[in-house]
Amino acid sequence: MRPRIVVESHPRSRALISASGKDVARFRRDLLRWYSEHRRDLPWRKTRDPYRIWLSEIMLQQTRVAAVLDHYRIFLERFPNVQAVAAASEEAVLAAWSGLGYYRRARMLHQSAKELVQEHGSRFPRSSKTLQMLPGIGRYTAAAIASIAFAEPVAVVDGNVERVLQRLMGINLTTPQIWQHAQALLASSQPGDFNQAMMELGATVCVPREPKCPECPLQKSCATRQSRQSADRTITMGRRAARPGRSTLGKGRQVKKEIWCQLNQRDGSIRLVQRPKKASLMPGMWELPQSSEPPRPMPASAHWRTFRHTITITDYTVHVLRGTAPLPHKDVKGKWIAIDRISQIPITGLTRKILKAGSII
Ligand code: SF4
Repeated sequence: MRPRIVVESHPRSRALISASGKDVARFRRDLLRWYSEHRRDLPWRKTRDPYRIWLSEIMLQQTRVAAVLDHYRIFLERFPNVQAVAAASEEAVLAAWSGLGYYRRARMLHQSAKELVQEHGSRFPRSSKTLQMLPGIGRYTAAAIASIAFAEPVAVVDGNVERVLQRLMGINLTTPQIWQHAQALLASSQPGDFNQAMMELGATVCVPREPKCPECPLQKSCATRQSRQSADRTITMGRRAARPGRSTLGKGRQVKKEIWCQLNQRDGSIRLVQRPKKASLMPGMWELPQSSEPPRPMPASAHWRTFRHTITITDYTVHVLRGTAPLPHKDVKGKWIAIDRISQIPITGLTRKILKAGSII
């Protein structure tokens, strides 16, 4: 049966894609052709291995492609398949994830890998419904894995797809309507390519602030483009549609904090502190001893460098001190960790940044 897209309340959306299916066919053809000619050359696009696709999808959540590339390669060198992840300790998985942030993703990945090995014989379920039963795999990730690795005809909706669809229709759609439209438009013979094409279009052409409509393969189908409304309206709509859930959380309500960290080295070791296992943020990870207050008195020679670092809604100004000036904090004793062991333990992104700046790792 031909897909049929009708949003009852708005006549323009009917003009966008006709019930006959001809325009839908043209839409798919234009999009897929554009994708085959313009897609970025990314490592996870060269494989149908569900493990590699899964890993890329998890890493790309709330993280830019450029930041993921190196981590993806390094993680795969260390854990080339799901069995390797399942056999590793959580600490080793977190260590390989170190620097990417949002460590809950790595913990869920580890749990899912164990479940895949123990309960599915190391084989990925082929349907998006079954994939969603694994820890940390939601509707989007399940659809991405199933469509790309197993060609299941299920649509994905992420922030990019949502924005493209809102603009194509020229109206505000509810979340269920967006999923419904995405599914109706899906090219079921090439679901993986189609889904990736929609996401790629949103990431590179139909971008949040100023969509590049003259470069867009869907201009003829796009209500926003055709409406010739002011650029302001286009941009406003894009901003509204750009909300990808958690990734814009906190915009406009960033909190500023100042902290002091101690970088203390001796005999090829460095002093690190492990965060409490029950901490709400980065539990169990290792970091430089830190305090919300400077040492008093603070020797002038102790200050080494100041860094800026952002974690979710907090912008930190981080003063790094060298030497042994005691920080006014009861938990700063820590442990001496050999520098050549640091790659095997999970360290926080801030600690990684500081140790790299000091050419320690
Ligand atoms: S024509 Fe413009 S607004 Fe419409 S989908 Fe393409 S880039 Fe987005």
